[in-house]
Amino acid sequence: MKSLEQLVRPNIWKLAPYSSARDEYSGKEAHVFLDANENPYGAPYNRYPDPLQRELKKQISKVKGIPEDMIFLGNGSDEAIDLPYRIFCQPGRDNVVAIEPTYGMYRVCADINDVEYRPVLLDEHYDFKAADLLAACDSHTKLIWICSPNNPTGNSLNRDEMLKVIQDFEGIVIIDEAYSDFSKQQTFRSELAAHPNLIVLNTMSKAWALAGIRLGMAFASKDIISIYNKVKYPYNVNILTQQQALETLKDPFEIDRWVKTLLGERARLMQAFQELPICEKVYPTDANFFLAKMTDAQGIYNYLVDKGIIVRNRSRIQLCNNCLRITIGLKSENNELLAALRQF
Ligand SMILES: *Cc1c(COP(=O)(O)O)cnc(C)c1O
Repeated sequence: MKSLEQLVRPNIWKLAPYSSARDEYSGKEAHVFLDANENPYGAPYNRYPDPLQRELKKQISKVKGIPEDMIFLGNGSDEAIDLPYRIFCQPGRDNVVAIEPTYGMYRVCADINDVEYRPVLLDEHYDFKAADLLAACDSHTKLIWICSPNNPTGNSLNRDEMLKVIQDFEGIVIIDEAYSDFSKQQTFRSELAAHPNLIVLNTMSKAWALAGIRLGMAFASKDIISIYNKVKYPYNVNILTQQQALETLKDPFEIDRWVKTLLGERARLMQAFQELPICEKVYPTDANFFLAKMTDAQGIYNYLVDKGIIVRNRSRIQLCNNCLRITIGLKSENNELLAALRQF
């Protein structure tokens, strides 16, 4: 790996971050806060939130097994995805490499930041070779994006190949593990200590059932996390979000039960799809959704919309010709979908 100083944009490396009122006193017990121009009425939301979300990180650290100073919390994964562009990529000069097809936000953030995006097509099993990703890199490649289990394909990628990318690439490798709670594959989150150029993303939006509160996570070396903290908005995670996340983290067993139920429903739904005459293929998945190749994805999609059932039409995406992406819902919702498809 190149040094962080070589990888980080010079202006960011030199940046003096905003110092909030609450940053400036520390350690001492205090009870009169007249430093931040807050309104003394309307507690508790009259106060600015903790910019570093210390209480919440303490709990996440326990659940995820990652030290607190290796955790960044953001306004959804969206923020954790956008920040590496702003930290590492010089607009109009640097580029990033990513598997294709994958989650759309990596490209959108590249476009917003005026950073060249270099997609590398997966093979027919929706998997990849490290050598192909590395061959797409040049001296201006700062980031490589990998998503496993991948969206929209659902499968986990080959672990040895991911490891090769991490070991052989001189820049930063970002592995998005948004769906890892649904998978039995060993996470890269648990191996951060061995890889100083690795960033792993997690989210509260999927297995944790908190898409509405917008809480995403990046796990990485303490040095990378401290740069994330320098560049983020000072109060990027609001009090309501922090409180609700803490509340949910108190009962991780409920999450385990949801995941088990969803995996059972997934197996049932995939089996039923395989038996539908309008379904040509169901792809293997490690996530809370699966991809199905249909005889007429667009026609079936429109038919379902008419019945008030919305699935994701991925048929215009490369390698996903005629594919629908089906999220696993409640048993009753899954049954409604099946009943509709059987009448198509
Ligand atoms: C759903 C999803 C996310 C979650 O994004 P949030 O902004 O945290 O809701 C992240 N990555 C992938 C690949 C996803 O599919």
